[in-house]
Amino acid sequence: MQPLRVDILTLFPDYFRGPLAHGTLCRAVRGGQLTVAVHQLRNWAAGKHRVTDDYTFGGGSGMVMKPEPFFRAVDDLATPQAHVVLLSPAGRLFTQQRAEELAGKGHLILLCGRYEGVDERVATHLVDEELSIGDYVVSGGELPALVALDAAVRLVPAVLGGGPAALQEESHAAGLLEYPQFTRPASYRGMDVPAVLLSGDHQRIADWRRRQSLLRTQARRPDLIARVELSVADKAILGDKAHCE
Ligand code: SAM
Repeated sequence: MQPLRVDILTLFPDYFRGPLAHGTLCRAVRGGQLTVAVHQLRNWAAGKHRVTDDYTFGGGSGMVMKPEPFFRAVDDLATPQAHVVLLSPAGRLFTQQRAEELAGKGHLILLCGRYEGVDERVATHLVDEELSIGDYVVSGGELPALVALDAAVRLVPAVLGGGPAALQEESHAAGLLEYPQFTRPASYRGMDVPAVLLSGDHQRIADWRRRQSLLRTQARRPDLIARVELSVADKAILGDKAHCE
């Protein structure tokens, strides 16, 4: 299987060193499931000073990133299957489903903004989509790019140990939050691990986990539970209130 190819365009390539040298992203590169190239956007900027930003037309504080370096860089880097993403607080909300879709692309080009953002022509004429990691503003597209990259790469086959079943039980994979997890010691400062988890009875454990997952999602994220297809048994666990039309 071809590795997922990712090109990142940024004014701060060093930002990515730590995350790419640790954990899942590092293992995916070493395992051959991912290739990442982090590019200095300035390399595609014109002139002696390689300027990448300029004043806002119409007035206003702060600088806006110029379109030309992004267009030139994508011209150079794009392959026929390239999927070009601008990280932007005005983009579509990034979800587990979007992560799954990105994991299935052969080639991602991630564009990181800075300052007041990026000239709108990049969003309207260059990229395939704009993605937002949430309803808040961070200082640059580097963290959002890493969030999207990490969430997508861990879904690329063979990147994580434990196989597809392990991923299926994670929060958001099937629309629910994951059940609570415990490890040793079984008793700590008077706090005991639920006895069922020590019982060795796989069916009872599975039933307990499903119940916890449903109740936790209902309590913390009723917006999610409203979108999940529930079995008769699930509905019985949640009670009538949860699934009134
Ligand atoms: N002035 C812009 C606005 O109000 O929408 C915010 C610009 S922000 C300070 C600079 C860059 O950070 C953006 O161009 C984008 O690349 C990135 N960014 C900030 N928040 C983001 C978010 N929630 N999701 C994705 N990217 C974000």
